[in-house]
Amino acid sequence: MRPADLLIPRPEGLYCPPGDFFIDPVRPVARALVTHAHSDHATPGHGAVLATRETLDIMAIRLGDAFAGTTQATSYCEAIAIDGVIITFHPAGHVLGSAQIEVAAPALRIVAAGDYKRTSDATCTAFQPIPCDVFITEATFALPVFRHPPPAQEIAKLLHSLAQFQDRTHLVGCYALGKAQRLIALLREVGYDAPIFLHGALRRLCAYYVAEGIPLGELSDATLSRGRARDFAGQIVLGPPSAFEGAWIRRFTDPLIAFASGWMQVRARARQRGVELPLIISDHCDWPELSSTIVELDPSQTWVTHGREEALVRWCTLQGRTARPLHLVGYEDEAED
Ligand SMILES: [Zn+2]
Repeated sequence: MRPADLLIPRPEGLYCPPGDFFIDPVRPVARALVTHAHSDHATPGHGAVLATRETLDIMAIRLGDAFAGTTQATSYCEAIAIDGVIITFHPAGHVLGSAQIEVAAPALRIVAAGDYKRTSDATCTAFQPIPCDVFITEATFALPVFRHPPPAQEIAKLLHSLAQFQDRTHLVGCYALGKAQRLIALLREVGYDAPIFLHGALRRLCAYYVAEGIPLGELSDATLSRGRARDFAGQIVLGPPSAFEGAWIRRFTDPLIAFASGWMQVRARARQRGVELPLIISDHCDWPELSSTIVELDPSQTWVTHGREEALVRWCTLQGRTARPLHLVGYEDEAED
């Protein structure tokens, strides 16, 4: 079997003809395999969804219990046969429950990594390199200029600012799934044990992580009663990016706006969002991680999707590697990074 007979790009997503399923389809399909619960990968309305238990739980929290006709939970490293194709989910190190999906037929193994990172993250299982013939990699930060600093360095910046500006509320923008919990875990790792205040949109997923055994310390609601804005002076308050565009932040006195994202390396993006304290914390691979992962796995073919496809394909070609862009549509580079 040729790789293109096992997985092909279609408008709905990556399709497996012999197994008759899609990986991370962006439109409703009969059978979907979902790598992780970020909204551009985990969409509602499929007939059947196969994913890790954590991904299914998070989809239910975000989309409601009726997000699919039927669901099937799998665990990392468990092999499942679908019409002669063997499917195995492996850890991707991106967010809780995130998986790479291995699709194997006789003498051919393709691994669709989904979103992944190699940096350590206490809130999810670490990426596991899986030898394969075809490796499908994301390319969100696939330009040599993208080099993410150590997360501890960014956390130190936040704590330094907190010590320096004790009268200001430090409002940190972060996505609700993965980034918020990782940010909290990183703060706890360096001994920050004060309560961390949460916008309502972050509560349920933080509670889910805690229920899954990931300690996040004391969390409290960032509920403002009239005239009590000073309650949050010198505190860390986390909120989703959408809240920073509304009236919510104006209720805090003299807020200091921070934002945690891999995109904060791009100064123009920080400025555009009115971010005073950009924190470069990413749940995706940076350029060195992407290129070293491809070298480590040494697949016969690399397929590139989600982001700067052409740059990574060109790098592969210059290295003498066979690579192609998949040109899948419907995935947003800044939807939830
Ligand atoms: Zn993601």
